[in-house]
Amino acid sequence: MKSKNDHRHSKSFVTLLAVYMAVCLVIMLICTTVLNSFVTQNNTAQLNNILSLMAEKVNTSFEMMTNYVIQLSDLMTDAENLDYDTAYKHLKSTTGNMPYSSVGLISADGTVYATVGEKMDIDRQGFKEKIKRLNELYISEPYRSSVTGSNMITMFAPVSKTSEYKGCIFVTYRLETIQSLAYSKVLSDNTTFFLMNPSSGNFVNCSTVDGNPPGTWNNVRLIKKDILAYRGYNLDDWLKSMESGSDNNIINFEQNHVRYTQAYINIVGMQGWSIVIRIPLTQLSLAMQYYTRGVSIVAGILVAATLLFAFVLYLSEKRRSKALKDLSDIDPLTKAVNRRAFEEYITEFLKKNKQTTRCTYIFFDIDYFKNINDTYGHEAGDEVLFSTSETLRHSFGDSAIVARVGGDEFNIFVHEPLTEAQVDNIMANIRRTLSNLKIENGTSIPITFSAGLAVYPEDAKDMKSLSEIADKALYHVKDAGRKNHFWFKDITEKS
Ligand code: GH3
Ligand code: MG
Repeated sequence: MKSKNDHRHSKSFVTLLAVYMAVCLVIMLICTTVLNSFVTQNNTAQLNNILSLMAEKVNTSFEMMTNYVIQLSDLMTDAENLDYDTAYKHLKSTTGNMPYSSVGLISADGTVYATVGEKMDIDRQGFKEKIKRLNELYISEPYRSSVTGSNMITMFAPVSKTSEYKGCIFVTYRLETIQSLAYSKVLSDNTTFFLMNPSSGNFVNCSTVDGNPPGTWNNVRLIKKDILAYRGYNLDDWLKSMESGSDNNIINFEQNHVRYTQAYINIVGMQGWSIVIRIPLTQLSLAMQYYTRGVSIVAGILVAATLLFAFVLYLSEKRRSKALKDLSDIDPLTKAVNRRAFEEYITEFLKKNKQTTRCTYIFFDIDYFKNINDTYGHEAGDEVLFSTSETLRHSFGDSAIVARVGGDEFNIFVHEPLTEAQVDNIMANIRRTLSNLKIENGTSIPITFSAGLAVYPEDAKDMKSLSEIADKALYHVKDAGRKNHFWFKDITEKS
């Protein structure tokens, strides 16, 4: 049975364990939160670095392109007696080695020197209107060529430095050239890259992540409904901030259950257009993922180790308390169970096995033990007590409990009903052993004993009565001259 003390101990142990787990959990939560904010900051910085890099590349390539157009227009301006026909032929002959896809001229009177396809595009895009009285570089918005289907940008530069308009030169670049300049393989394959005009909402897809080939046009306002903004960000606000060129350039959103972070940077050369990159948060937060996985593993190990530790502690505590109990239950002289433990055990055992069991109870007492003490001394008497206890334990075996209940009195509880023949046999063996008992100094001390036997449940139904009845039987043996054993039922029959 568990004592109150045991309960108190296990309760405080569980409390300690709970506190320990709670502390571990709090530490992990703090670490996760700190790392999360660190990773978020890092992600933002990383995203902005990528953007700056891309913007720089796009701006540099724009610069190169515009410089090229301006150089061409300067050359034409410097040429005396400018003949547009000859100049166009000359320009066309060098186009093969140039980064642009086409070049052409528009004279002051509006004659276009270009291929048929280019002429069509110029008409469609209404460029003639836009370049009337052109006195500085004009860069068109990206447009889709009606002839080739490619996305193009055309740059127009005036041929004259004076206020007198002499015509202009134009160079058309494929948007792909700019895209490939800006996009780097170093960027993850999960990175989506757009060129976006926030005022119209038009954007050109420049990388193939979401299945749309580069060059596909779309409008952000058309796909807006697929995007769930979260953490207080709003797509419209973000577009407005892009339009105003604000630094607050990052938006986080969810699309088809994937969380993305998206940022823009304005392109200097391409007025009104920005580079937008979109990266799945998982991609940016690899460190966080590794950390989370790491934390899960560590937490798992921690929990397992804690449980193991608790279990080992529990076992050792159990072993310790058992050892303590054993010490208090055992008679130190004879190593037999003491009276208290014996009574407790049998009471409990009979309570649990009331209906099913039949047992034998024996009250054992050494004959004239006082004489042994007197003759051989107290120490010899002690040795006799120990040897008798050992002989009893050995003779009755594992199914019996031997207890020392008084000076030279032993009680034996056998968990099974022994027959008379079995008892006779066991008693004969004990008598034989004890009749020839030798103590340590070699002295032979012949011992005889008397015993009374009771049977559960026939003779008595509880521990106390069993002991009394067996004692009664013993008394009869003593009275009848000792060196014998009687069954209680026999003496009751006799008397
Ligand atoms: P009986 O046959 O009637 O039992 O005679 P007895 O002399 O054995 O009488 P009793 O059982 O009353 O004597 C028990 C004696 O055991 C009394 C006491 O001196 C002795 N004794 C009690 N405890 C110890 C002990 O721890 N060591 C030793 N050596 N003797 C003990
Ligand atoms: Mg005695």
